[in-house]
Order: sequence, then structure tokens, then C-alpha cells
Amino acid sequence: MLYTRSSQLFAEAEKVIPGGVNSPVRAFRAVGGTPIFVKSAKGAYLYDEDGNRLIDYINSWGPMILGHAYEPVVQAVIEKAKLGTSFGMPTELETQIAALAVSMVPNIDKIRFVNSGTEACMSAVRLARGFTNKDKIIKFAGCYHGHSDSFLIQAGSGAITFGSPNSPGVTAGTAKDTLLAKYNDLENVAELIDANKNEIAAIIVEPVAGNMGCIPPNSGFLEGLRQLCTDNGILLIFDEVMTGFRLAAGGVQELFNINADIVCFGKVIGGGLPVGAFAARSEIMNYLAPLGPVYQAGTLSGNPLAMAAGLAMLKALDADRAIFQRLEEKTAYLAAGMEKVLKANNVVFTINRIGSMVSVHFDADPVVDFQTAAKGDNETFKKFFHGLLQEGIYIAPSAYETWFITDALSYEDLDFTIQAVDKVSKTF
Ligand code: PMP
Repeated sequence: MLYTRSSQLFAEAEKVIPGGVNSPVRAFRAVGGTPIFVKSAKGAYLYDEDGNRLIDYINSWGPMILGHAYEPVVQAVIEKAKLGTSFGMPTELETQIAALAVSMVPNIDKIRFVNSGTEACMSAVRLARGFTNKDKIIKFAGCYHGHSDSFLIQAGSGAITFGSPNSPGVTAGTAKDTLLAKYNDLENVAELIDANKNEIAAIIVEPVAGNMGCIPPNSGFLEGLRQLCTDNGILLIFDEVMTGFRLAAGGVQELFNINADIVCFGKVIGGGLPVGAFAARSEIMNYLAPLGPVYQAGTLSGNPLAMAAGLAMLKALDADRAIFQRLEEKTAYLAAGMEKVLKANNVVFTINRIGSMVSVHFDADPVVDFQTAAKGDNETFKKFFHGLLQEGIYIAPSAYETWFITDALSYEDLDFTIQAVDKVSKTF
């Protein structure tokens, strides 16, 4: 496949946009080459500026769980746009999506909408600090919670891809309040809590990690975090920006039957428009302005187009709960097929999967945390990525990302992908 026009467009973009992109991983720096410029997308497919059709395993990094240009979402946005695109005043739509989200997710009474996952996590931490009157937080190496200062301490996703886990611009004062723990290592968390008695406001965790590839929690890890938080007056924040409305209607809280104190959302909840949200029981949410002292706001928060898209998406998921089982089956089929051909071609690999999140790591050992994820062979990943791209398959241009499976994928698409993995892995 040729990507000539994409390359030309990238050269133009580089002149006026830093690195040619508005979010770093898009630039293909980790895999080499130039990014694909998208013209349109429908269902499971992207159509690029060169006229290629690509099977999409990233799906805007998660939101398009029902496929691109999902008709009810598109219609909802069109209809709302005709009525005005932003008011900065309350609308009934905001209550409708809030009520639906609260009914789908266990253990939350109230939800506030923001414009990105970053904002959701940043606001959740501020709320936790205000509520507990403590300053420090624990985060896990390799987990990504957006690009707010407190989280850019050994963060995953693009922050690892570019080898700058601790970004310049984050002050030492901010960094000192973020304690770093190892994912899936409860003892490490307990030690940090002991060493910082009564100083920790919150533990923030991706309850299924997706920003160092897909790493499910070991059995007992989330239960252990819950117990440590309860015992020590710490709030447990589940960052469900990836997993919310994806792994189950009620996210990981429902999947593993574990209650968090604050839950962050993004991606699916906005149906592909810029939306984030954070939620908790009333006691905590009432600490927010205008009811409480913790300030948080947004000119475009609750934007009618974004809320219309999100509501249409959540309604579709709420009405057809079988979708989560369907996604699980499709993803299991893909993982099993890839495993078979990679083994047959003597490739050293580990596949991690849970629900509709899956990742291929080029290392033989189990991938359970940042350290083990970082061991993967990046040269093989680059060949894998570019090989698949030539076959018309788009996966994330970095080894530290999960794939997001969409319900729009057919079994023919999955078979085609498995055959392509077979073909490409023969060339390693
Ligand atoms: N949390 C998690 C778990 C994420 O995966 C992401 C983005 N990939 C974020 C937070 C930040 O969301 P956003 O990019 O919308 O700011």
C-alpha cells in the first residue's frame, strides 16, 4: 500500500504543528515512518488520504466501541448542532446522560462531566485531596492518567514511548507529592503507605492497565488496594477512562465487584466527542463547587453536541448488554488466532487480554507491570507494525498500547488479520 499523500500532508503539518501532530504518539516516532492521514471512517474501517482502507484496531484510542460513524451517534450530533452548539447554561440533556451513567455504573450517585480524561483524573485527585485534607497520591509506574503535572511521573502511553517519563515543566514540588508504586505489587503499596502515614489522599490506578500494553490486575491486587485504602483513610480512584463502558456496562467495578471511591471516565462515554467525567457517591461529590469548597469548572463542560453523542452511545450499550460478551468473544478469537500463527512461526511473544482489550508483547515472560512491559523487543514490534500496515491493518504505533476491539469488526476481518499476522511474522 502507498501512503504518498499522507507523507506530503505530514510534511505540511510539521511546518505549523509541533511534530506535525496534536498528540505525540500519532507521529509514529516510536516505529519510524510517517503517520497516516485519515479522510473518513465507517464501522471497522479507516479510509486514508491515499484511498487505502485499513482495518482499525485503535478506534480513536477506545471511544468507537460500536464502530466509526455509528449512526445513532452521528444523527444525535447532527440534530443537536442545528439547535446551537454551546450555551454555557444547563441543558436537560446533561441530566439525562448523568442519570443513565449513574444507573449503569455501580456505587456512584453523582457524576460531573468535563472535556477529557486528563481533566477527569486531575479533578478527581483535587477532589480526593480536598475531601481527605491530605496532599500525596500514589500512582503506578506505567499507568497513564493524562498529561496533568501530578501524573507525569513514570507515566505510560506516549510518555514512555518518548522516553520522557518525567517531563520537564513538572516542578519538583509537584513531583514530590506523587509516590510511585509497582503495578500488581501490593507489598510495595503497603510500604509506601507505612512510610507516609496519614499523608496520602488517594491511590489512583488503571484497574486494568492499558497504557503499557494491556495488563490485567493479578488476582487479589484490586481487592488488596481496596483494603489498604479502607484501613488507612485513603480514597481509591479507579481511572476507568479506557475500561469504563467497555469491559462491562459498569466497568471494572462491576467486572470484579470492587468498589472504588472515585471513578474517572473518558473515551466511550463521549461517543467520540471530547468528553471526560468523574463520579463518586454523594458524600464525596458534594465537596465540589458550587456545593463544596473544591473548585472545578469548564466553559464547554456538558457541551450539547458532546452530551448528545455520549447519551446516544450509552443508550446503545445499555439497550444491548450482550455487546460486552460479543466483544469478549471476538477478542478471544483474535487472540487465539494470533497466538497460533505466532507460535507456528517460532516468534517469542506474550499476548495479554481481558474483554475487548488485547496486546501483543515480544517477550517470553509474563507482562505484569511496567518493568516487564519495557522488556519487549521493540525492533520486532516495529516490523510487526509496519508489516500489518502494509496489509491494511492499523494497530497503535507504539508497543506500549492496548488494541481496542470494536463490535463493528466481522469474523472475516479477524480472519484476515490473523492471516496477515501469520504472513508478517514469517518475515521477522
Ligand atoms: N486515563 C487513561 C487510563 C487513559 O488511557 C487516558 C488517555 N489514553 C487518559 C486518562 C487521558 O485521557 P485524555 O487523553 O482524554 O486526556
